[in-house]
Amino acid sequence: MSHELRTPLNSIIGFSELLQANRKTPLNEKQSKQVHQINSSGKHLLTLINDILDLAKIEAGKLSISLEPTLVDSVANETLEVLQPLADKSGISILVKANAQHIEAMADYTRLKQVLINLLSNAIKYNRQQGSVELSWEVVDQSVLVHVQDTGIGISDDQIDHIFEPLNRSNAENSGIEGTGVGLALTRKVVEYMNGTIDVKSDHTGSTFTVTLPLANCQVKSDSFTSGKVQNDQLNTDLASQSEKVVLYVEDNPANQRLMQDIFEDFESINLVVAHEPFLGLEMAKTHRPDLIILDINMPGMDGFQLLKRLKQEPSLEGTPCIALSANAMPNDVKRGI
Ligand code: ADP
Repeated sequence: MSHELRTPLNSIIGFSELLQANRKTPLNEKQSKQVHQINSSGKHLLTLINDILDLAKIEAGKLSISLEPTLVDSVANETLEVLQPLADKSGISILVKANAQHIEAMADYTRLKQVLINLLSNAIKYNRQQGSVELSWEVVDQSVLVHVQDTGIGISDDQIDHIFEPLNRSNAENSGIEGTGVGLALTRKVVEYMNGTIDVKSDHTGSTFTVTLPLANCQVKSDSFTSGKVQNDQLNTDLASQSEKVVLYVEDNPANQRLMQDIFEDFESINLVVAHEPFLGLEMAKTHRPDLIILDINMPGMDGFQLLKRLKQEPSLEGTPCIALSANAMPNDVKRGI
């Protein structure tokens, strides 16, 4: 179900982004607004689907998480990097107060980031004009407490018991503020899955959400961390400096093939060859000897993992880098791919 829902959405989001970024035949103002609407609705739907599928997984006891010592500073930094643009756009300032540095909580890195993104984006969305948000963390006994405090409109006493229910948007339903009503339900379940708790206090001056997680360890190595942005910039520079390279893309879905062809059109020095099924992909890899292979995972006859195995057995392709590109990129799939 996950794959069936995400694949067409990837096309909707990907193609609308391409239309917006098209320099050769730019959209006029009206078209640009319409395409922007398609894109943001697609993203909204993807968030909702991801959250609901996660909830279903948790309820079935099948959410895969890996609990390990997780540096709260790093997760907080990454979260802020994601949300700073939203805060800037909304005119909300974010303050960070680390009452204890280099603290490790026993948590799943990606899931903790998801929790902080949910809480911080709510704190920004449901704030007042020129309001502020404070993200802070501290150690109390053997626990790490992460607080997200806002100067927003607050949550009334009769609503506060219901905000963690799925699809309950309390007073926000007709407020014009975008949301799905699933974020807090998922946040609480994820926190509990990591053996933690979440509490909220609110009055007319604002709300404070506190996540409590088990403390892992206070003595931590360096927190050297490379952000995704830096890696992407590096990738763009590398692509620009290459000449006459061949990329093989093995993908059975015509919409994804088209999307990739449109993307590669902007890189004149790269020749994209597409194989619409895995056995053909194997043959084309042998004849074209590509510099890079991009593999879909869900394909008829042979999946991406099996194809990768076959490619690795081919001596002429030794050392050829392969990237998996799939709508099924949940943490477990990524782990298996790596
Ligand atoms: P949504 O997608 O609607 O933001 P959530 O599950 O994250 O859904 O939150 C549920 C509801 O709780 C929101 O619709 C909003 O009414 C209320 N809420 C959540 N966070 C805050 C906050 N920081 N301040 C005020 N109200 C909030």
